[in-house]
Amino acid sequence: MNERRQKYNVPENWEKTCDGAGCRCGAWNSGECGCDVDWTPHETYRMMVELNFQQEEIERLRGALERARRDLRCNCTLGQIWLKNVMDDIEKALAETAK
Ligand SMILES: [Zn+2]
Repeated sequence: MNERRQKYNVPENWEKTCDGAGCRCGAWNSGECGCDVDWTPHETYRMMVELNFQQEEIERLRGALERARRDLRCNCTLGQIWLKNVMDDIEKALAETAK
């Protein structure tokens, strides 16, 4: 259940270098361009950054859940069952999010 999704590799300064920025041959797309520039669309990088952020959030929540499972204790049986159910629900939700 602890599958990790690969993070997207987003170049530094992508906002300034994507979409064919720096092209000097007057091309409209990568097929026409003879320069060595990045024609990846701005929106693609923006979504990669967003997905990386979501992935970090999921990993952070997984860590919190693992710590909670380890550290949270309740002395009464009902409390223990309740805690376990809550933890299971959170873990299921995280597994769904990671798909
Ligand atoms: Zn060019």
